Amino acid sequence: MEMNVKIVAIIISIIALSYAIPMDAKYDYDPRPSVAYPGLCDAVAYDINIDLTPPYNSINNASVRITLTHEIEVDMVLLDFEVSMSCDSVIMTHPIYDYWFMCDFRHLGDTLVVELPITSAPGDTFFLTFHYHGLPTGGYYYETNHLGDYVIYTLSWPSNARCWFPCIDFPADKATATITITAPSNLDVAANGTMVTHHFVMAQPICSYNICFAAADYAFWENFSGSGVPIWYFAYPEDSVEAAYDWGRTPEMVDSFEMYFGEYPFDRYGMATTPFGLGGMEHQTMTFLGDGIVRGDRRYEDVVAHELSHSWFGNSVGLADWRDFWVNEGFATFAEFVFTEIFSGDIEAADYRSGTQYRYMISGENFPMYDPDEYLSYTCYNKGGCVLEMLRFLMGDSLFFAAVREWTGRYRYRTVTTDSLKALMEEFYGSSLDWFFDQWVYQPGYPTLKYSYASWRSGESFFAILRIDQDNTSGPDVFITPVEIEIETEAGSIWDTIWLDTLSEEFVWELSDSLIRFVIDPNYRILRNAVRVTSVDEFSQKPAFDISIEPNPFNQTCRILIPGDSETSKNAEIFDQSGRLIQKFANVDNEILWDASGLPSATYFVRVSAGKSAVIKRVLNLR
Ligand SMILES: [Zn+2]
Repeated sequence: MEMNVKIVAIIISIIALSYAIPMDAKYDYDPRPSVAYPGLCDAVAYDINIDLTPPYNSINNASVRITLTHEIEVDMVLLDFEVSMSCDSVIMTHPIYDYWFMCDFRHLGDTLVVELPITSAPGDTFFLTFHYHGLPTGGYYYETNHLGDYVIYTLSWPSNARCWFPCIDFPADKATATITITAPSNLDVAANGTMVTHHFVMAQPICSYNICFAAADYAFWENFSGSGVPIWYFAYPEDSVEAAYDWGRTPEMVDSFEMYFGEYPFDRYGMATTPFGLGGMEHQTMTFLGDGIVRGDRRYEDVVAHELSHSWFGNSVGLADWRDFWVNEGFATFAEFVFTEIFSGDIEAADYRSGTQYRYMISGENFPMYDPDEYLSYTCYNKGGCVLEMLRFLMGDSLFFAAVREWTGRYRYRTVTTDSLKALMEEFYGSSLDWFFDQWVYQPGYPTLKYSYASWRSGESFFAILRIDQDNTSGPDVFITPVEIEIETEAGSIWDTIWLDTLSEEFVWELSDSLIRFVIDPNYRILRNAVRVTSVDEFSQKPAFDISIEPNPFNQTCRILIPGDSETSKNAEIFDQSGRLIQKFANVDNEILWDASGLPSATYFVRVSAGKSAVIKRVLNLR
């Protein structure tokens, strides 16, 4: 075959994680330990050269030059490199010497041990060039797509970059990179970075799992966001009309996300189809989308939005530790919510959150988001997105999104942990979020809210009472959270926000018309299962007894007089104007002396229940 050679060089930067890597046994989903990290050296740059020659299932001729720095004196370097690959030679060059050295090396399991022929002094930078070949067991694939054409591509997340080039295979180690792919002329190449003639150039740092390339027969086109970010598209020629439609709103997505998340962090964005089903992988500046999601009907547009959002969350702001993986996927799932809100509206966004919650709950997963039992899980993705939505609900849009923009600005091209997120959110929230992160991030589960309600008419007034019991199957006994409540009445809906912080709580409202029903968290702002529990006394409009309060208004103390025999057990509760229960009297007689001297001047509600009947009266404390 004639090899009309096409040279493609790419300079790469940081890391990113995936939407849903296909559930296919050939991929290894679990992060693996890195022998090279934390090691003696940091990688500063990778210059990867791969000559694509048949047979394409193996890498036959490749080299990588790694620029390394170190803070202490070194005479040895450890790198991650899969045992199935063969290293042919290692050459060291050092800026203070004008010649090169051949290095001794040993391949021990998946670790490459390089003995340096000279000792490098603390603070020095030097270069190691590896020539290698071999049959990758993961990370690099040669496959036929659904059209019968072959595609050569890489998919290194989470720890499979080491399967196709020697590296420090851990997300906290970011370096710049260039990739030069020499391919036959019938293959187009997509990779990280921007291209000048036949060279891709990208100057920002990247981590090992984000370094990628794909070579196939591609149709290529380009357009720009309103803010001027170039966007490159690589689709199979036969699918390109469908792909152009499916990806058609990417420029608007970039502009929208810039408003919410801050400036797009790289020189360009891009997407390429590769044969891996329904998933996507957000390689920095060059997302790979499984060719199964190109349908020509935008049904997987949320995946396009998800992968794009990783540019901010996961790629520019990267992970320092795999245990915090939920931060990447939580933000990307949250970005799906934002995308739906902007492009389809609030009702569709609430529906979308509802579906996201539902899939998490029926998954049966029961482990914390932090250091998860399973990485590609509903816990890290769906629950993660809901937890960020709850933070938004707690803080309010202006504070929350200001914090998010600070997050993408302060940690641009850097790496983070859950603690960095908590600290930054606390700065904006103005007080501790220990309780929030403890219950949602470090504990499993979600609250099950069992609620019931009742309403009465009393003179010209209507009263409604809502009871919520938490019945949580895992996680804390009591979740602390604000909850939005819609009170539907004959005169229209009233919206209120209550705080849940005990196992069983009651809230009372005085209404201008009769109650139709309560809706708990109608917009799915909270990750919860809300179950209505009906009881016989619901909607009991006519209490069987009445109470009187003397005097009313009162100053500091008053008497609550309850008729009826002393056999029936009677309980009384006092609520403040916001509907919060402030005092309880159990098993009371026919009279209660209520001392309200510690309470401010205000209207209060007194609720007395006897057997299955209850009555509510308003009382005014005037001091
Ligand atoms: Zn993702």
